[in-house]
Amino acid sequence: MKNVYTMFLLTVLFTSCNDSKSKNETTSQDPMNTTENPLLVESTLPYFAPDFSKITNDHFKPALDQGIALQEKAVQEIANASTEATFDNTILALEKSGEVLERVSNIFYGLTGAHTNDTLQAIQEEMAPKFAALQDAIFLNDKLFQRVKHLNEIKESLGLEAEAVKLIENYFEQFEKAGANLSPEDKEVLKGYNAKLAALENQFNKTLLEANNNGALVFTDKAALAGLSEAQLKSLENTEGEGWKIPLLNTTQQPLLQSLENRATREKLFKAAFYRTDGSAHDTKGIITELAELRAKKGALLGFPNYAAWSLQGTMAEVPENVFKMFEGLIPAATAKAANEAAEIQQMVKTKGEDFTLEAWDWNHYAEMVRIAKYDLDENQIKPYFETKTVLEKGVFYAARKLYGITFKERIDIPTYHEDVLVYELFEENGEALGLFYADYFARPSKRGGAWMSNFVTQSKLYDKKPVIYNVCNYPKPASGEPALLTYDEVETMFHEFGHALHGFFADQQYPSLSGTAVARDFVEFPSQFNENWALYPEILKNYAVHYKTGEQIPQTLLDKIKKSGTFNQGYSLTENLAASNLDMQWHVIAADTKIADANAFEKEALAKTKLDVVSAVPPRYRSTYFAHIFGGGYAAGYYSYLWTEMLHHDAYNWFENNGGLTRANGQRFREMVLSRGNTLDLEQMYKDWRGSDPQIAPMLTARGLE
Ligand SMILES: [Zn+2]
Repeated sequence: MKNVYTMFLLTVLFTSCNDSKSKNETTSQDPMNTTENPLLVESTLPYFAPDFSKITNDHFKPALDQGIALQEKAVQEIANASTEATFDNTILALEKSGEVLERVSNIFYGLTGAHTNDTLQAIQEEMAPKFAALQDAIFLNDKLFQRVKHLNEIKESLGLEAEAVKLIENYFEQFEKAGANLSPEDKEVLKGYNAKLAALENQFNKTLLEANNNGALVFTDKAALAGLSEAQLKSLENTEGEGWKIPLLNTTQQPLLQSLENRATREKLFKAAFYRTDGSAHDTKGIITELAELRAKKGALLGFPNYAAWSLQGTMAEVPENVFKMFEGLIPAATAKAANEAAEIQQMVKTKGEDFTLEAWDWNHYAEMVRIAKYDLDENQIKPYFETKTVLEKGVFYAARKLYGITFKERIDIPTYHEDVLVYELFEENGEALGLFYADYFARPSKRGGAWMSNFVTQSKLYDKKPVIYNVCNYPKPASGEPALLTYDEVETMFHEFGHALHGFFADQQYPSLSGTAVARDFVEFPSQFNENWALYPEILKNYAVHYKTGEQIPQTLLDKIKKSGTFNQGYSLTENLAASNLDMQWHVIAADTKIADANAFEKEALAKTKLDVVSAVPPRYRSTYFAHIFGGGYAAGYYSYLWTEMLHHDAYNWFENNGGLTRANGQRFREMVLSRGNTLDLEQMYKDWRGSDPQIAPMLTARGLE
């Protein structure tokens, strides 16, 4: 499995509050000559694709400012209207209020991710507070909320189509979640909480950054670093003094622990990571305790038993109990497998003539020896069978054709923002146009790390627009004349990102804020993870895994190795993930009057009562004190989403396996009932209708080799 944590979906900024002034008004009110700013007018290219042959850095700031000003003005007009609220003058007007801003920011954030520069970075920094202020201007506007609330109350009597009703609900829920329903006094309390929470999150990030920097280890004795290659040593050279410096990564396990042969060094590095925020000037225990207690108060103020219950609104899991239920279904099998792996590793320690009890800092070092002994899988043997463009056209596209009937044609006439970007036009089985796809696969300094998907143009019938979608990855670019060969993980990533793309291409919505991938976090990774399954499907694989020179198919022996090694170390990896996911939930289901005396004691108890501490050599992927996703970022009560969508995709693939596998009929049914529905249905019900039952955990356990 690829590391899903490095991948994420780049969501557009205002999927939910798009704006609007008509195009004519935009032009007439714009102080700039809009004919000179290509961002302020609709593109004349096919599919309204951004015209990168005309767009320059200088166009962005005025266009973003203009988009924000237009939306602010439109929102004020809606809120202050003297006429009674109707769907058209309130909800639809709100939906249209961000049209210009969305168009500009889709292009802007596409570039800041995939091909940035100093100018764009400076604009990005400058815009962040402006976007935050715009959000407040919308969601804290009481007059506006009263109109939305009224419409939500009478929505069933308005004679609207189901999607329009859903749009009203969606806006209402966003306002309500933001606290719009509170009394003026409580709103002030909430504002105080939010400000304090933001300050604490900042303080956490700052302290953690210091702790990470401070925790870096310097070694002057080369023998202590035995096992590292010359290249690794070179990259670790201490620029501020003698010897070598090993920096700390955010996770508990540190990558170099796999190579380091000196046990004392491993222990030292592991402990530096594990205790980085404990009992020092960089202690975060007090901060996270205060954060958790304050979040609990916020949940209560907003009418929920705890913060997680508030946060899970609108997700597929819906309530914390469902998340815990999933954990309970995974924990026994995960820890049992981890215990078996520990025994295998202990045996390897013995085989190597050592005599000590396996500890967390030994795991990766000896696990790698077990892996080599068991699977003997060498990436260099595999890569010649995975040439980038062949994988894309004869693997990823071929699978989509077999399942959904769509076809692809390369377009070399569409301008792109970088010469490495490939563009394809997609067609339905009947030849009808479907959209444009940009594939930007190679790493470069102007691109941030990871892999992601997003839209330049979002599908909507409201604006009569078809999707323009991009995938961005970070595959190493080959030297000129050399083939671009991929590892199996990279192949999987390509299928993954194209799964997101299909979710966007099959979108069939009236309203852009409900379109395609604008769904809850615990659903959005489902179509992408699901699409990975086809990478190893025999009929697909035969078609794309051919040697770039000889054209011969990948040998069965290599394939078997890839398949078998897929379940390696899965007990460890699932247990450490469950431990972190569980800690996240435990911190966010405390009641508003809870006082936590000590963060470490809380963590210990949280792991013990869920039996996630039974294999002592498997620590949480993140300890609470350095869990930046939940205490410094936006993943509080949300880290479970990765496991949730993993459960869904294995369960969904299991349905395909039991119903004839890769067929047009199966693909069509999945497209119609799931992939085309965007955020227009209750996600849990939608899944159930397609699957015929609730998602089951068993297929995920089987896929991870845990049963
Ligand atoms: Zn993804």
